[in-house]
Amino acid sequence: MNACMKCGRELTFNDIGAYRKFINRGSTQYLCKECLAARLDVTVEDINRKIEQFKLQGCTLFV
Ligand SMILES: [Zn+2]
Repeated sequence: MNACMKCGRELTFNDIGAYRKFINRGSTQYLCKECLAARLDVTVEDINRKIEQFKLQGCTLFV
């Protein structure tokens, strides 16, 4: 099971997808949505909204 490299929280499929989408597609270490939001200087809601958009576009990084 993957864990956030910053806070150690267990990662969901979409956490990993978001990290790949926003930071680095080839990464093998990830941040949870909260830490990713902090790093990108946006809110978790912003990220969730983006994920919904990507899903609508058929992106397979998200469920
Ligand atoms: Zn985290």
